[in-house]
Amino acid sequence: MLVERMRPFTSTIFTEISRLAARTGAINLGQGFPDTDGPASLLAGAAANITEHGLNQYPPGPGVPALREAVAAHQRRFYGLDVDPDDVLVTTGATEAIAATLLGLCGPGDEVIAFEPNYDSYAATVALSGATLRPVPLRAPGFDVDDDELAAAFSERTRVVLVNTPHNPTGAVFSRDRLIRIGELARAHDAVIVTDEVYEHMTFDDARHVPMATLPGLADRTLTISSAGKTFSVTGWKVGWVHGPPELVGAARAVKQFLTFHGGAPLQPAVAEALALGDDFYAGITADLTRKRDLLSAGLRAAGFDVLTPRGTYFVVADPRPLGHDDGVELAWKLPELCGVAAVPVSVFCASEAGVAATRPLVRFAFCKRDEVLVEAAERLAALRP
Ligand code: PMP
Ligand code: GLN
Repeated sequence: MLVERMRPFTSTIFTEISRLAARTGAINLGQGFPDTDGPASLLAGAAANITEHGLNQYPPGPGVPALREAVAAHQRRFYGLDVDPDDVLVTTGATEAIAATLLGLCGPGDEVIAFEPNYDSYAATVALSGATLRPVPLRAPGFDVDDDELAAAFSERTRVVLVNTPHNPTGAVFSRDRLIRIGELARAHDAVIVTDEVYEHMTFDDARHVPMATLPGLADRTLTISSAGKTFSVTGWKVGWVHGPPELVGAARAVKQFLTFHGGAPLQPAVAEALALGDDFYAGITADLTRKRDLLSAGLRAAGFDVLTPRGTYFVVADPRPLGHDDGVELAWKLPELCGVAAVPVSVFCASEAGVAATRPLVRFAFCKRDEVLVEAAERLAALRP
């Protein structure tokens, strides 16, 4: 019964591996979600909005003004960007921002360039829009782009280039020079840049997040997407946003109102307050995740994996070939039984044969878990050593 364009997308790897982990009692490092709650003030604020302040009916169409103002203030505070709150659209998570944007901008005959592997909603949403995905591979170990491959992907059909930095699933953080080059090509082909920056506050070591909209001459063709889920450890809340020039945000808004209409009324003002939390909160994200990354990476190395150290996100990609496994899909399905830990294969985030081949052995582990859970996972992984 399912329409043909959705037939390749009947399930998601996150659903499948989370189910496998639940069934086997494995520690679930597959689907990326934290096992601790976000800031207490955020949780209390949302609860009070429901039970005391009666914010339980539809919020205003483009989002609660306080949140749109807070997103603009956040963009100024962290990146020096000048965003008009009227040009911020609140969405049901970044996922809806991506969907509304692509459905609002692309149709049959258009091409969407996306780096692969990529977050699984991209390919499904491009398929829904009727446009064609043009994948450009990121190659291990550095997960950078080959400039010739990048340039060759652009054509007069290119409508959107979809960027994600810090990058899920590889943990790569695109350099300023790389982003400038993508911007140059987008301008030369008059393409819109849609940039998914949900891991904006999760960079390690000397890596710095550069929002595409801050690069010279790009703000007027860039839609910037982020959400509260990662930054505030509330992945189930699904409060996201997109901002950019009015005519581009308008395209997303037109679609968004018929995808979900408007939601998250009690959550939006609480997220607005959380965005204004002090620098210590934001510094704490990096410090905590750096420690967790190192903890799990050490466990993976001790178990015999090659670790492709991430510079951002809360994911680490590991290569199991030193352990005698060369197929990440096969390994991900066996891992709970072999050692009581679940992970996701990287190749399922690729649409092209070249991408699948290049990432075939790799598996991704999430480290947004309590330290004791990561220590336990590391102990379990040690069982893999021959
Ligand atoms: N983009 C990327 C790269 C992600 O990893 C995620 C989280 N799964 C999303 C978008 C979706 O974010 P949200 O949960 O806010 O819809
Ligand atoms: N973004 C999370 C991940 O990549 C989860 C996404 C989801 O469950 N759809 O693991």
